[in-house]
Amino acid sequence: MAASAFGQASDLPLDSHLHTDLSPDSDVPIDVYADQAVERGITEIAITDHVDFDPRYPAYDYASYADRERVARDAAERWASQGLAIRFGCELTYERRYEDAVRDHLRRHRYDFTIGSVHIGPLSPYGTDRVGSFVSGRPLAEVLAPYFDDVEGAARSGLFDTLGHLDFVKRYLAAHVPPSELAAAPELYEPILRALVETGTALEVNVSGLRQAPLETYPAESIVALYRDLGGTRLTTGSDAHRPDWFAFGLDEGYRIAASAGFRVLAFRRGRDPVTVGIPERFVERASAGRGG
Ligand SMILES: [Zn+2]
Ligand SMILES: [Zn+2]
Repeated sequence: MAASAFGQASDLPLDSHLHTDLSPDSDVPIDVYADQAVERGITEIAITDHVDFDPRYPAYDYASYADRERVARDAAERWASQGLAIRFGCELTYERRYEDAVRDHLRRHRYDFTIGSVHIGPLSPYGTDRVGSFVSGRPLAEVLAPYFDDVEGAARSGLFDTLGHLDFVKRYLAAHVPPSELAAAPELYEPILRALVETGTALEVNVSGLRQAPLETYPAESIVALYRDLGGTRLTTGSDAHRPDWFAFGLDEGYRIAASAGFRVLAFRRGRDPVTVGIPERFVERASAGRGG
């Protein structure tokens, strides 16, 4: 399916992954998202600006907790009368070697919602100038190992409400390894999905891949279905917008994939409390019709 098949979605209960100008890679003021959310009938948004723990990463010490919290809470107050709920969340970059720092941060700071994600760091083998030679001659399991090992650590840690863009590495591999090769190797995903189920961490269907090189979600539909088969009940979906026109972009596809995997609600911890958000009936009906035919 071509990227052009998607656009900005409307009439949805939640976009759970958004970056504002308090992330180093975005310059969108929070009110721009809030305004779009009201206009598009998206009734809840989670602001999830980056928090990094490696001093070489861009969001290390970028915006203070106090500033991020104040901006999100003030906006939540301003927009509540228009029927929009704004949650104060964050996206924490996870690597095993920084697990103690992540745990410490979460012990000292309170969020409505946390996403744990593995990103591609400055020394990563997946960097543009390195990935070609790294991939060459290696079997897929070895290609994915450095990334998937940290992702499994994030899932196993139980620190996060949801696991962000599980196989984001597809974006960096796309020129060398087609995304379909990853989807054809579900056994490589299984340990991560089992760790999510065992720790009560949600899986995120991150739709930003629809507008990036893989042209599919992180992870793909078949992996979301496998998660469900393995007993997964907690799921989120978010657009991971960094620009105004990426707000809710392709987000209806995230809901469609969730419904088609058999989910009827999005579910996740919010802080300590379990939350469910109903998947709109139109996706559920389509999923049932699809299975019948
Ligand atoms: Zn991310
Ligand atoms: Zn993000």
